[in-house]
Amino acid sequence: MNSIAIDAAVVEGAGSPFRFETLAMDAPGPDQIRVRLHACGICHTDMVMRDGALPIPFPVILGHEGAGVVDAVGPGVTGVVPGDHVLLSFHSCGACGACHDHQPGYCVEFVPRNFLGVTQAGQGGIWRGDERIGGNIFGQSAFATYAFAHSDNVVRIDPDLPLDILAPLGCGVQTGAGTVLETLKVQPGQSIAILGAGAVGLSALMAAVIAGAGRIAVIDRHASRLALARELGATETGNDLAGLDGLFDHIVDTTGVPALLSLAADRLAQRGTLALVGAYPPGGFTIDPSSIMSMGRRIVGVVEGGIDPQSFIPRLITYYREGRLPLEKLIQRYDFADLEAAFAASESGAVVKPVVVMPSN
Ligand SMILES: [Zn+2]
Ligand SMILES: [Zn+2]
Repeated sequence: MNSIAIDAAVVEGAGSPFRFETLAMDAPGPDQIRVRLHACGICHTDMVMRDGALPIPFPVILGHEGAGVVDAVGPGVTGVVPGDHVLLSFHSCGACGACHDHQPGYCVEFVPRNFLGVTQAGQGGIWRGDERIGGNIFGQSAFATYAFAHSDNVVRIDPDLPLDILAPLGCGVQTGAGTVLETLKVQPGQSIAILGAGAVGLSALMAAVIAGAGRIAVIDRHASRLALARELGATETGNDLAGLDGLFDHIVDTTGVPALLSLAADRLAQRGTLALVGAYPPGGFTIDPSSIMSMGRRIVGVVEGGIDPQSFIPRLITYYREGRLPLEKLIQRYDFADLEAAFAASESGAVVKPVVVMPSN
């Protein structure tokens, strides 16, 4: 197979704007699946990476909620064939203890495979002349018309399903929903507070409704997001946790703001759990160890929901088909060429989950 020409949004260095370029993409090598992308969601981590706060290689192609159709597969790839519709998720090694336990979010190679763009010998790349463009972010780099994915991070879906609406399942939605359903295992009637009503928080909310939670409180600064939270099943909303009464069996922090966490830990009920899901800056927060001990409270970190995309994404698709995961209420579509505007809408809070749609789709 020969290389193909692709269009990609390249970030030249930390904080640089997106520049649309035509690049050359090799044929897929071992464990590479070339996917023609139809859509890609925009996730907060894309902004963190663009701004240089994670150790990614520049110039880089971001985008890690890709969805599309398999175009070609490399030697040894099984499980998908050209023409299959797929959602892309994060990358893992498949061989470490966490991967064997179906917890690939805690893969020992999570950082090199998702942020460093490490490739194996013989694998194809994306080229600007002789310069290899850093990529394969989250095993995909999907702000482009094509991406290289891998056997472990493609999830085949039925071709009747909408790729643009379901693209965010592969990161933001599974992170929020997985935290509630798999990590916290929220039980019917339990109480939960969700800090932050972005895509992750609202996905946690929809999952809490699916789990049959009783009291479901959602905290955010944006009135429009709180209105959407009530529409999606929140039993109460507010601008800060201090304004709510009582204690919670579960608290999910999606804000990544350490200053909110001391109060959150104090608002846990006996045997309650605080789940840390946000992208936290360096630093810490103060906890009272005596109250953690005496009340049997827990604090747990969560990557990508603590799920295995291969089993959890099909479960989420079942909820979507049943109308219990109304993702269309979270997303707004943008043309790929309007990627900057889509980022701005996410950063301002105007749009919960922008999804860029690639040309000729
Ligand atoms: Zn692993
Ligand atoms: Zn993400």
